[in-house]
Amino acid sequence: MTSTSNHDAQGGPFLDPDTETIYATPRWRTLLYRGATRACPACGQRKLFGWGLTIKEDCPRCGLHFERIEGHWIGAIGMNTIVSFFMILVYLIVGLVATFPDFPVKELVIFGVAVAIIHPILFQPTAQTLWSAIDILMRKLEPHEVDWRFVTRQRKGKTGNRPS
Ligand SMILES: [Zn+2]
Repeated sequence: MTSTSNHDAQGGPFLDPDTETIYATPRWRTLLYRGATRACPACGQRKLFGWGLTIKEDCPRCGLHFERIEGHWIGAIGMNTIVSFFMILVYLIVGLVATFPDFPVKELVIFGVAVAIIHPILFQPTAQTLWSAIDILMRKLEPHEVDWRFVTRQRKGKTGNRPS
């Protein structure tokens, strides 16, 4: 195994001497974009969610096991909680400013409760892929975690990641 760039040994790059292809953990922008758009952070695969918005255990393309460590999803729940509270705050501010000075209290409360219930449910899939992306940012992919053929690759001698 040869290390040729500024990546850590963990997370790549890994050189495949047969094909002269270098595999590496995607860059942070790629990871976050994929995570924010409900795609697999490692390979960009979509359709990770079945009925009921439950995420598949493993990515059907690159094989990444999303729950990389026990308790992994606590981070997603925490992030969902923070974002949902923020959305309620935004709703309250917008609602109060828009209706000033005659606040329709009943309507504001009803819609506020609706936001508080619906937003966490709808955001949960995004929270899961986004948290997985952040997790990979903090702990890069290990060689055995994914099928590297589906993750970012670079031909030897070229710079930049090929989008997939
Ligand atoms: Zn994947």
